[in-house]
Amino acid sequence: MEDYMSYLPGMEIIESDIGDRVLKAAGEYDCTVYTAEDVKRALKSEYLSPEDFAALLSPAAEPFLEEMAVRARQETRKHFGNSVYLFTPLYISNYCENNCIYCGFNCKNKIKRAKLDSDGIEREMKAIAKTGLEEILILTGESRKMSDVEYIGEACKIASRYFKMTGLEVYPMNSDDYAYLHSCGADYVTVFQETYNPEKYSQLHLGGHKRIFPYRLNAQERALMGGMRGVAFAALLGLDDFRRDAFATGMHAYLIQRKYPMAEISFSCPRLRPTINHEEINPRDVHEKQLFQIMCAYRIFMPFAGMTISTRESARFRDNVIGMTATKISAGVSTGIGTHDGEEEEKGDNQFEIADTRDVTEVCAAASARGLQPVMNDYVYV
Ligand code: SF4
Repeated sequence: MEDYMSYLPGMEIIESDIGDRVLKAAGEYDCTVYTAEDVKRALKSEYLSPEDFAALLSPAAEPFLEEMAVRARQETRKHFGNSVYLFTPLYISNYCENNCIYCGFNCKNKIKRAKLDSDGIEREMKAIAKTGLEEILILTGESRKMSDVEYIGEACKIASRYFKMTGLEVYPMNSDDYAYLHSCGADYVTVFQETYNPEKYSQLHLGGHKRIFPYRLNAQERALMGGMRGVAFAALLGLDDFRRDAFATGMHAYLIQRKYPMAEISFSCPRLRPTINHEEINPRDVHEKQLFQIMCAYRIFMPFAGMTISTRESARFRDNVIGMTATKISAGVSTGIGTHDGEEEEKGDNQFEIADTRDVTEVCAAASARGLQPVMNDYVYV
């Protein structure tokens, strides 16, 4: 098995100390040392320090959830008004060469694999565009062999004919690959670090390129070096100590924002979901209350950052957090391959079960009912 801390041939090594600083901060984080006084001080601060953020993520902040929600809502309204952005993910391939033990797409899991060709991608995108959406997030399993950079680039070019904004959630790559995909129309890149605990990471990622921890950790920075407009950060909450992972995620985003002030930063807040052939997987100690605490802490610490709430969560929870902490919500979601074009047969299995199956009209109606304005796009290229 590969050494998870050593780069493989062809992996770009960049000059950056951000990964080391994130790991140092996460290693030193002890959520038990914070007190109610620390939490109150953090909530009174106009601009939060990393220490304030650490306090808001600690168990000492749990009794202050209501105060945190009020402050989070104020910050969200101040920076995003009453807008809530809509998008949908499109899985174009579920081939994967990695062995992440918690994921339905992992290469050892016997599932129906599929990959859309250009016509299939166009059919899917056309169907999605008809729903009124103007932003798409293109996903693949992590197989460079089955979904090479040119294939993803082709998908971006098709997307630019139907959508105003294109995001990518694909395998980490070098900065010149990101530059190429940006030239094909990609705007932003999401990479889930899964867990920021390197040792735990090595126990969960048993093979494939993803096993190389530092290459993944530096992906957002390589994406920005490649010219991407924005990058998104996430830990998969529940894989390891969720407070430490949330702290590391926030610090990662914070340090990248300080180094690249023009970058559009956002957070995703995924919890573990059951996967095909592994229905027993459930979020362990990350219940909705803890998830909400984390989302409030992200919002108060980095008020300008976007925040996505995915269909891993229930419709009720999602509706409650939009406009309060989250600024972006997916709609009409399928995590399978080739399911949007109206054909009966699903071409590839799902990555995970979704908890909110509402379509675009239903999500828009729910947002409007809360006094929010559903927004399909707010970016104009000149
Ligand atoms: S989490 Fe991503 S890389 Fe890991 S098995 Fe699933 S699709 Fe592949």
